[in-house]
Amino acid sequence: MASRGGRAARYALCMDADVIVIGAGLAGLVAAAEAADRGRRVIVLEQEGEQSLGGQAHWSFGGLFLIDSPEQRRLGVHDSLDLARSDWFGSAQFDRPEDRWPRAWAEAYLDFAAGEKRAWLRGMGHRFFPVVGWAERGDLTGTGHGNSVPRFHITWGTGPGVVEPFARRVLAHRDEGAIRMMFRRRVDALVVEDGVVVGASGAVLAPDDAERGRPTSREAVGEFELRAGAVIVTSGGIGGDHDLVRRAWPERLGAPPEHMLSGVPAHVDGRMIGIAERAGARAINGDRMWHYVEGIDNFDPLWPAHGIRILPGPSSLWLDAEGRRLPAPYLPGFDTLGTLKRLRTTGYDYSWFVLTQRIIEKEFALSGSEQNPDLTGRSIRLLAKRLGSGAPGPVETFKQRGADFVVADTVDELVDGMNALAHEVPRGPRLDPVAVRAVVTERDRMIDGGDAQAREIGRARRFVGDRIIRVAKPHRLLDPAAGPLIAVKLHILSRKTLGGLETDLDGRCLGAAGEPVLGLYAAGEAAGFGGGGMMGYNALEGTFLGGCLFSGRVAGRAV
Ligand SMILES: Cc1cc2nc3c(=O)[nH]c(=O)nc-3n(C[C@H](O)[C@H](O)[C@H](O)COP(=O)(O)OP(=O)(O)OC[C@H]3O[C@@H](n4cnc5c(N)ncnc54)[C@H](O)[C@@H]3O)c2cc1C
Repeated sequence: MASRGGRAARYALCMDADVIVIGAGLAGLVAAAEAADRGRRVIVLEQEGEQSLGGQAHWSFGGLFLIDSPEQRRLGVHDSLDLARSDWFGSAQFDRPEDRWPRAWAEAYLDFAAGEKRAWLRGMGHRFFPVVGWAERGDLTGTGHGNSVPRFHITWGTGPGVVEPFARRVLAHRDEGAIRMMFRRRVDALVVEDGVVVGASGAVLAPDDAERGRPTSREAVGEFELRAGAVIVTSGGIGGDHDLVRRAWPERLGAPPEHMLSGVPAHVDGRMIGIAERAGARAINGDRMWHYVEGIDNFDPLWPAHGIRILPGPSSLWLDAEGRRLPAPYLPGFDTLGTLKRLRTTGYDYSWFVLTQRIIEKEFALSGSEQNPDLTGRSIRLLAKRLGSGAPGPVETFKQRGADFVVADTVDELVDGMNALAHEVPRGPRLDPVAVRAVVTERDRMIDGGDAQAREIGRARRFVGDRIIRVAKPHRLLDPAAGPLIAVKLHILSRKTLGGLETDLDGRCLGAAGEPVLGLYAAGEAAGFGGGGMMGYNALEGTFLGGCLFSGRVAGRAV
């Protein structure tokens, strides 16, 4: 704890707890559990109700980045800390003086992901699905961005399976009186005395029993002020506030989109980062962010503009709004921000996948615990269906009910449907069926390895995990046996904040001159997953939950 002796003596009499944790998402739960394990009395303040425990992580796919795991080895994947470090730094592209702590966090996190992470989770009952995914394959340069090998380890139980061990530990501490959970407490300010953060104050929000994920009332029915020896900010990122996202949007990604879907609930509002700044903390790398380009409108939304991300396999044909094929490395599932940047040059806020029934069955996964009832419910019976014929249930439902899907037997019919969707917001140009057919035919002509996409499909299929569940056998889109044809209108989906509150390796927030802000700590997405942005410009996926676990653990053990 910062300057524990003197300060503790000064404030001991008026302290409500040893530690206040702001935000009961994954990072907050980890920090609270770790602090309470070490004998600290903890208060957790959370603006949402108890039903939201776990924050975004509950909705997550539960993918975790591990290095050289038994799961990888069983599938014949040769990974190592050196290889992962080279991938990480090639992706992060740290290039600023303020990358000092993000770099240090990246090193520490890599050691964790190659070392203790799996055993630590396993000791709490966490388990992985045996097939490792190959997310974010990268820019195909070998030394630049991307995972050279599969590293995306899916939690058996998805997001809820990641949250569960920590929620259990926190609730056990609550039952024993070591942790007080205070829901519907929105922190509006940090209490600072003599330059030391000594507590938090804010509004008591009216009770609201809205279903998890739905926006809740912001009506204030009271006020609170609480004091503690240390405050840990674990309030998440800014992805739920599109105005904040647009304001932070960097020029290097082109103009910010007018139309976006939201990949996170409304409570991911970013307010708390500004509040911590007003208490003396420094936020860095606010222009680094991670948004997806394969968003689809949720026909059954929970939160405003609720979008779902397609986790695509490599075979779909990717067209921009004008029907031009995206060149490699902008292939499905390869280079998230490279593709976003490329698409921002088109002047339109959407793009298209064109694929077949055979591809959708094998290659479409939807990110989100609720979209994967088999993995989330740990149901072998449902999982067996995923391996059988037909698309997974939720994918098939989106195909039938989702506003962004067109299904047709011929290219002409398909383009008719695409043009009807291009007429709807976000609007774009009419496509010419002749031109689309020419692009499709050219793709089909190359499918035996003649172009970069065909070669990458072949490379993916050499990995047994992809061959079994992720990558369809190469085939022509115009092969009637593989049909019908499908087109999907893809939107930009806001998700993650890569920058955040700058922290040292103890999770202490740092001020403008690099000095610790006494009493103030940060972890999780609010801290750029560690240091104020341990992923630099680009993520390798599975690193967000992992960053919350690691930075939450560091902060919880430091206070
Ligand atoms: C659909 C989906 C799929 C994902 N899949 C993956 C994946 O497979 N792998 C991966 O690594 N990552 C994934 N992620 C990202 C990952 O889940 C998040 O980055 C991570 O859970 C963030 O956790 P956090 O604790 O930092 O913040 P949050 O989960 O956002 O929690 C912050 C909490 O703080 C509360 N709060 C905020 N401000 C205040 C305030 N002023 N006062 C009181 N309380 C406040 C919020 O209400 C919230 O409950 C996914 C995210 C989503 C939404």
